[in-house]
Amino acid sequence: MKILEEKILTHGKVLPGHVLKVDSFLNHQIDVKLLKAMADELYKEYEGAGVNKILTVEASGIAIATMVADRFDCPLLFAKKHKTSNVAGDVYSVPVHSYTHNRDYNIIVSKSYLNESDVVLIVDDFLANGCALRGLINLVEQAGAKVAGCGIAIEKGFQDGGAALRKDGYKVSSLAIVESMSDDALTFRK
Ligand code: 5GP
Repeated sequence: MKILEEKILTHGKVLPGHVLKVDSFLNHQIDVKLLKAMADELYKEYEGAGVNKILTVEASGIAIATMVADRFDCPLLFAKKHKTSNVAGDVYSVPVHSYTHNRDYNIIVSKSYLNESDVVLIVDDFLANGCALRGLINLVEQAGAKVAGCGIAIEKGFQDGGAALRKDGYKVSSLAIVESMSDDALTFRK
């Protein structure tokens, strides 16, 4: 998506550890118009797929996922992060390794909000090694619901999460795929 790529080139900063910082428009300060345009793109991709729920994980996926849910006129459900494995209540739960915090969380959703009649579009801000998406897919599958696909703002194509998920048969739609990045250069996949 051209406008997203341009925004990454002008505002993105490459941090150590292959982290792309885009908090001036995506996951701290939010460029609402840009996120709306991104939601429109994902809507075009999954319109007609029967999506009735959007799922993300707190916190940085929530902004884009909210815009997507508005576009589909359906609820947004976000998985909560719990640090321990002692999760109370009637929930689906799965351990996930956090890329940016380098620690493990259990992510949970209430069984009240996910069931076998749901067709779920999973949305997140970044795709790196795929741990967050695998965790969210696991929650959907525990509930017996269907994964329509994964809509991602920025995929780091030089990490293998996206390729492995596609190989496993999941549809992954990324609005920008970074092919390579260093302190002074960043390229996108065509
Ligand atoms: P994965 O689980 O695919 O390895 O990493 C995806 C998750 O880690 C996303 O939910 C995102 O919050 C975070 N993440 C991974 N890479 C980056 C990055 O380069 N920049 C930022 N801001 N977040 C990232």
